[in-house]
Amino acid sequence: MVILFTTALWSCENVRMQKDLTTVFEASDSLETATYDQGIAWWKDLETSSPYVSLQSFGETDIGKPLHLVVINAERNFSAEKLRDSSKTVILINNGIHPGEPDGIDASMLFARELVMDDEFEERYPDVIIAIIPFYNVGGALNRNCCSRANQNGPMSYGFRGNAKNLDLNRDFIKCDSKNARSFVKLFNDLDPDVYLETHVSNGADYPYTMTYLMSQPDKLSEPQSDVMTGVFESGLLAKMKAENDDMTPYVNLFGTSPDSGFATFYDSPRYSTGFTALHNSFGLLTETHMLKEFSQRVMSTLRFMNSLVEIVQKHSKPIRDARDAAFTNLKAQNTFPLDWEVDYESHKDLTFLGYAAYYDTSDATGQLQLYYDQDSTWESIIPYYNRLKPTNSIRCPEYYLVPKSWNDVIVRLELNGVAMSLMESDTAVDCSVYRINEFETSKQPYEGHYYHSKTSTESHESTVVMRGGEYYLVSTNQKSKRFMIEVLEPAGPDSYFNWNFFDEILQQKEWFSAYVFDKEAAQMLEKREVKENLKKFISQNPALRDNGFAQLYHLYKESDHYERDRHMIYPVFRIE
Ligand SMILES: [Zn+2]
Repeated sequence: MVILFTTALWSCENVRMQKDLTTVFEASDSLETATYDQGIAWWKDLETSSPYVSLQSFGETDIGKPLHLVVINAERNFSAEKLRDSSKTVILINNGIHPGEPDGIDASMLFARELVMDDEFEERYPDVIIAIIPFYNVGGALNRNCCSRANQNGPMSYGFRGNAKNLDLNRDFIKCDSKNARSFVKLFNDLDPDVYLETHVSNGADYPYTMTYLMSQPDKLSEPQSDVMTGVFESGLLAKMKAENDDMTPYVNLFGTSPDSGFATFYDSPRYSTGFTALHNSFGLLTETHMLKEFSQRVMSTLRFMNSLVEIVQKHSKPIRDARDAAFTNLKAQNTFPLDWEVDYESHKDLTFLGYAAYYDTSDATGQLQLYYDQDSTWESIIPYYNRLKPTNSIRCPEYYLVPKSWNDVIVRLELNGVAMSLMESDTAVDCSVYRINEFETSKQPYEGHYYHSKTSTESHESTVVMRGGEYYLVSTNQKSKRFMIEVLEPAGPDSYFNWNFFDEILQQKEWFSAYVFDKEAAQMLEKREVKENLKKFISQNPALRDNGFAQLYHLYKESDHYERDRHMIYPVFRIE
């Protein structure tokens, strides 16, 4: 898939056609959001009207229509190589991942128009390139409806959360089941944005704030980046929004309880966008406007956030890029990586929070006690905000991974994420660490198209593995995508490709035995004292199987040479330490 970045040619600015750039949001008195067709047509008009704007298409989606990318650059060049090599800071804004939450779709249009129609645009934003995905979940955007956002206050109609395959694209950044996600990841890798912003509308508790925000969890970023995330982005955005009379607060991560006694940060594992961008050392941000605020208010708040962000990025362009560079340098030297995290309830930040009074009353619908909020009664208090995560397990980084070519779905995803691999052409014997999958749990209900595994544990042993030429890719961990590959290739990681079912084939034993045949061989095996002792031990550890002949034969089968011990439960990605 090739990204078609084009260079718009403007031989004479005077020939530029000025289109009517009123948006659907404006023309409808702030009641409606642009449809996919209206939106793309508007962006084409903006491209026609401004030399700083290029509208391009990239990649496929599940619904069959292309994804679009708007590039805004004061230098007026839009080619992929020049964007990547430029010394400017690149912001990527992604809208309509959940098209029922369309605030960013309309805010982006106002944002871009105001920027590029400003006579001083070139002088004001010389160091920033802005890339905007107008609609990411195109299938969902086309699936317009009046009502699927049960708690949301407008617009009159909007798209649906699931994409054409009913996938939630904000759970798809690692597994990439959708074409949308595969196209996105390729674009993300090609563009390598320094800053990523994704726009949403929140569910959950009620409170007076219109805007809440999430960011790549600072504890998961390396130090120079986490300092910039909190010191430049978070404090800068809070101050700018406050100055605009639009105070905001961290995403209120609560469902079914009120914020009175505090709340905890959201753990953005890599399946979510800000967790995914963190793996590539990009600063990830999310806006979550409050569902009960009017659509017009939410769009304007999202616009303020975008304006604040671009001003911050322009002002701190160099420190932002330096922090990223330092993060990549630190990554090279880092040998141990946390794989999973949990909220640290032993530390918190005092958060001044403005809330609505929560109370319980008897529900007219169910007759049961129900939590409500009184919007006429506000309180302001300092509440604990549990904003830190602590690692729950860590892994030492190997020098190389060996990834079997036959697991093609994994290879494709590694390539999309910029992982360089070299096929081992000749037969080779390699000393490796090999994982055996010990235990794991599997969800009873499908989650995003998967019977997802969790609580995965492994044991590791050293082995000399003989590989046929062309069978394995050698993957050095000394590359920019080091952290990404560790989190997807280490089976115990919460978003590992093992846990997302990409390696389920190894969990099934392929060959079995007929008991009446193997029985005789088993009896001979038991002539060996060690085998007999092992069977005794097995029975004492599993007393319920004392009278179960087949279970005892199976135990012996697994000790025999017939058992596929180099395949069954053996994780086929090996580590060279
Ligand atoms: Zn959302």
